[in-house]
Amino acid sequence: MQKRSPRIAVVPGDGIGVEVIAEGVRVLKHLAPDLELEHFDLGADRYLRDGVTLPDDVFMRWRDEFDAIFLGALGDPRVPSNVHAKEILLGSRFRYDLYINQRPIRLLDARKCPLKGKGPSDVDIMVFRENTEGLYTAVGGVLKKDTPDEVAQEACVVTRKGVERIIRAAFEWADANGKRRVCMSDKSNAMRNVGQLWQKVFRIVAAEYPHIEASHLYVDVLAMELVRAPERFEVIVTGNLFGDIITDLGAILQGGIGLACSGNIHPGQLGLFEPVHGSAPDIAGQGKANPMATFLTAGMMLANLGRPELEVRIIEAVRVLLLADQTTPELGGTLTTSQVTDALLEQLG
Ligand code: ATP
Repeated sequence: MQKRSPRIAVVPGDGIGVEVIAEGVRVLKHLAPDLELEHFDLGADRYLRDGVTLPDDVFMRWRDEFDAIFLGALGDPRVPSNVHAKEILLGSRFRYDLYINQRPIRLLDARKCPLKGKGPSDVDIMVFRENTEGLYTAVGGVLKKDTPDEVAQEACVVTRKGVERIIRAAFEWADANGKRRVCMSDKSNAMRNVGQLWQKVFRIVAAEYPHIEASHLYVDVLAMELVRAPERFEVIVTGNLFGDIITDLGAILQGGIGLACSGNIHPGQLGLFEPVHGSAPDIAGQGKANPMATFLTAGMMLANLGRPELEVRIIEAVRVLLLADQTTPELGGTLTTSQVTDALLEQLG
């Protein structure tokens, strides 16, 4: 039977999401013309128009018919509750069980790194953040609300299965990509119950990969070490909250939010790929949004669809553009969003 082309659900979303996804689509069409792209009108405009966030029929179509979701950004000042973003983005993460949040910290141009004397060979890390558990499950509650005795509780929910699969994903990726160091980070000195489960499972899984050095750092020490000596790290695996924070630190190490990409993945199933930045209403509609994070996100999506050579081409082309200052103003260039894409396409040939 002939294998069908990968099918991508394209969700531009809000603000600069719409602008950068249009550019990302140009790159995808150039590099992988066989992809089937279908656009979905979901986001703040749609929510304000007819109250729709993520309809059930769309949720099921994506699950059954698509290989990946290519998402811009969600967030709009006209929707202060952000309900549409929560239901589309967090809804997808949890309902499709996308337990891996994979975020590279990869410096392409030494001049963009705020650390003195560090270059691309010092900052090249893949972070595996657990994406469905921890402190982000909304398990908890409020008691005696709006009284002087108000009590709030947020439970850190961690399962052995959840911890094992994210740790295994980190080791598997390290193994497949020639990496030899995996560092697990937690706060087991203070959060003992959850920490001991992470520690135990990490030891068990690491033993299956004796050729990979397994180390551990408390997350506060990791934060310091990422700034002092990022070259120590190849692969980091951590929980939901710590991963969220550490990867934002990492975004700055590699040159800013305009370069940070991410994938929400459950191997063998539909994945959701998005630039890390938000909808940035302050610069929306002005041609100032840097589309490079979206190009790198497209690369990550292509790698996950079994085309890693296309990701390498995108990374190398972005590197050339950065070194030539062919960027948007926030990185010191003078190009508009679509001019950056023109330059990238020329570079890709
Ligand atoms: P949220 O994450 O809550 O949606 P946001 O969209 O306001 O928030 P971020 O994505 O965190 O913000 O970005 C903060 C600021 O960084 C933006 O307001 C914008 O000025 C700038 N910024 C973000 N992404 C880009 C980009 N791709 N290109 C250029 N500047 C950006």
